[in-house]
Amino acid sequence: MTNLTARTVGFKPRERNVFFHILTACNLSCRHCYINPEQHGTATVQLETIEKWLRLFFDPARETNLIFLGGEPTLHPDLAAGIKTARQLGYQTVTVDSNGFLFHNLLDNISPGDAVISFSLDGPTAEINDPIRGKGVFAACTANIRNAVAMGFNVSLIYTVSRINIEHLHLMPALLKELGVRRFFIQVIGIRGKSAGYTKDNLQLTPEEWLAVIPAVAQKAAALGIHVIFPKVFLAEGEEFACAGRVAENYFIFPNGRVYQCPLCEDFPVHAFTIEDNRLVKNTGLTEDRFFTLDIAEGCVMNKLLQPGNIGYDEQGKPLYRISCCLLKQELKST
Ligand code: SF4
Ligand code: SF4
Repeated sequence: MTNLTARTVGFKPRERNVFFHILTACNLSCRHCYINPEQHGTATVQLETIEKWLRLFFDPARETNLIFLGGEPTLHPDLAAGIKTARQLGYQTVTVDSNGFLFHNLLDNISPGDAVISFSLDGPTAEINDPIRGKGVFAACTANIRNAVAMGFNVSLIYTVSRINIEHLHLMPALLKELGVRRFFIQVIGIRGKSAGYTKDNLQLTPEEWLAVIPAVAQKAAALGIHVIFPKVFLAEGEEFACAGRVAENYFIFPNGRVYQCPLCEDFPVHAFTIEDNRLVKNTGLTEDRFFTLDIAEGCVMNKLLQPGNIGYDEQGKPLYRISCCLLKQELKST
């Protein structure tokens, strides 16, 4: 009999996660793209600098995980070389987050043991996915998923849930099983980049909408043997709040040298660190880490600052629910 084990994945004290945006250019123009060229620049980090920054963020005393991001990271001609350098340095895991196009024959230039390939799809069919991510994207992405799986790569998939595609999420587990995808990340739509600008057709979900759909679909995927990961988003009564900026080590690196600790801060010049002459320099003034220290009844401070109207209150002014750190995940897998 299959047992499904659900748990909240707490922040690990001796873990470091490095999210490295090696460029901001992309061949797509997704509706909810979080890249903000005004804040993150339009540069491409050259290989020599990639290697220096990989050394800068690698900590042999910690389990250090690396995620290559963009833009579309496979547009970078030296991504394969960067992956090899990371492996040689001793990064515990290396993941490439791709929109599915896999430029520069990436899979022919690395080995399946070098990196996990994480694909993004926002619908179970071209009819749902392509209006969000672009014409022809579903066909290109699923063809490359099949190819990667056939070559022996460990493949995961990210589905960003919004009002537009939530009703189709339930069709994903069967598709993933058929494609051979082993891990499924259900992501909540962000409030960054382009999606921060939507007001009329608000893409974001209410707690009721999220809770009515996501746990059930996660169960369905896990029952098929897929490891499912999804953000906590709302804390239940009695659950402890923790801000990753205080208790975890996450670095979100951008080509212009900005380094954030919290992804919700990425639209603002409040980054805690800057890379200067290949050294990590702590910034002074009003930086994101000042916000992390504020204890508020609503939970995540940045969520409260960016979307004050999003939280309901009772007659005594107490929040109806607390918002968890956006980096806190739950996982569900069969054992
Ligand atoms: S693939 Fe990623 S970087 Fe490219 S437009 Fe879509 S969300 Fe933005
Ligand atoms: S999302 Fe909120 S709780 Fe998490 S690091 Fe940012 S400010 Fe802290």
